[in-house]
Amino acid sequence: MKSIEKVREQLAKGEFEFSHHAVVEHIPAIVCEQCGEKIFSREVTEKVRELLHSEQEPIRTVEVDVFDLAQV
Ligand SMILES: [Zn+2]
Repeated sequence: MKSIEKVREQLAKGEFEFSHHAVVEHIPAIVCEQCGEKIFSREVTEKVRELLHSEQEPIRTVEVDVFDLAQV
């Protein structure tokens, strides 16, 4: 993301590695309209960290494909 690029506020999905690897949906974010880069505020990131360290049950569980760029 460069400063000249256009950004907008929207709810985004993010992946985090706090207590465990998890996907979190509907996170308030600033998203770059050109490259799709997502910026989460410090407050929002802290809220996600607290959520993932809480006893909150996930709304669903998904399988994730793992790739190794060193094997390409
Ligand atoms: Zn960008």
